[in-house]
Amino acid sequence: MRLRTHRHVCAKQGVKAAPPVSSPMSFMPGLPYRRSIFNAGTDTDLPGKPVRHEGEKPVKDRAVNKVYDNTGIALNFFHEVFGRDSLDDRSMRVESAVHFGKDFANAMWTGEQMVYGDGDHNVGGFTEALDIITHELSHGVLQHMIPGGLGVYRLPVKDREFREQTHALQGQAGALNESFSDVMGSMVKQWHAGQTAAQANWLLGENMLAPQHGKAIRSLKDPGNRKLTWYDDDQFKTMEEYVDGADVHDSSGIPNHAFYLTARKIGGFSWEKAGAIWYEAFPKLKPKASFLDAARATSRVASARYGSKSKEYKAVVLAWETVKVLT
Ligand SMILES: [Zn+2]
Repeated sequence: MRLRTHRHVCAKQGVKAAPPVSSPMSFMPGLPYRRSIFNAGTDTDLPGKPVRHEGEKPVKDRAVNKVYDNTGIALNFFHEVFGRDSLDDRSMRVESAVHFGKDFANAMWTGEQMVYGDGDHNVGGFTEALDIITHELSHGVLQHMIPGGLGVYRLPVKDREFREQTHALQGQAGALNESFSDVMGSMVKQWHAGQTAAQANWLLGENMLAPQHGKAIRSLKDPGNRKLTWYDDDQFKTMEEYVDGADVHDSSGIPNHAFYLTARKIGGFSWEKAGAIWYEAFPKLKPKASFLDAARATSRVASARYGSKSKEYKAVVLAWETVKVLT
C-alpha cells in the first residue's frame, strides 16, 4: 500500500489571478477576515452547505471550528509577519469545506477554496493541523502572487480522481510551489509556538498518521529521513538525488531543505529574516521557474535587503550550495 497522505492535490490553481474584490461586501469594518466554512457532508459537491461565517459562534461540529480557528491563525501570520491582507492581499473571502468525500484522506486547494477530507484508518486530522491548513492556504497565496501560477498544468481527465481536480503541479516549478507551502506551514507552526529556528523540530503533519506508518509527513530538517517521518518517505534532500519528472512532493525536499539551512544559519526566528527573504523572492519567479531561479531570486533579495557581505546573504548562498543547486 502506498500512502498518498502527502500528495496534496492542487487543483485548478494559478490559471488566472482573481479579479480584485469589488462587491460592497468587500469592506466590512471590524471584521478583519472573511472566513466561511462549508460542510460537504461526505459528498464531493463543492462548495457544500455554509455552516459558519466570520464572527459567528462555534458550532457543534469540531472540524468546522478547528478549520475556522486554524485558518484565522494562518491569516494572522500572513498579516502580522508580512502585512498581507488575506490570500490576494485584497481582503478576499477565505472559503473552506470540511467532510469532503467519504474517507477522503487528503486536503487540497481547489483554486477557489480549501477542502478537507475526514481521513481514513491510515491518515486523518487534517482540520486539526495548523501547518497543513497553512500549507493549503499558502497555495492560494502563491496563486495570487504569480499570475499563471507556479508549475501548474491542466490534468488530463483520465488522471482526475474527482471533478474539481482539474490542475496539478509538475517540474521544478511545481516542486517550488509545494515547497513554498511547506515553508509557510512550518513557519506558522513555529510562530504560533514562539519557537526559534533552533528550537523547532521542522516536522510537518505530526500526529496525523496511524502509528504503524510513522510520526510525521515531512521533515525540512532532514527530508527523506524515514525515522523522523514515515516508512515510505522518499523526499530528496539535495540535487544528487534529483531525477527529472519526479513527483513534486519528493523534489520539494530540496528547496525545503535550503530554507531550513538558511533559517538555521541566520538564527533567531525563521520568519524574521529567512521567511522575509522567501516571501519577497517567490513572487518574482516565473511560472516555469527552476530551483536555480529560486536560488538566484532569494540570493538577490537577501543581498538587496541585508547587503552582499551580510551573514544573511551568505546563509542563503551557502544553503543553496549545500543542496547542490548552486555550484
Ligand atoms: Zn500542496
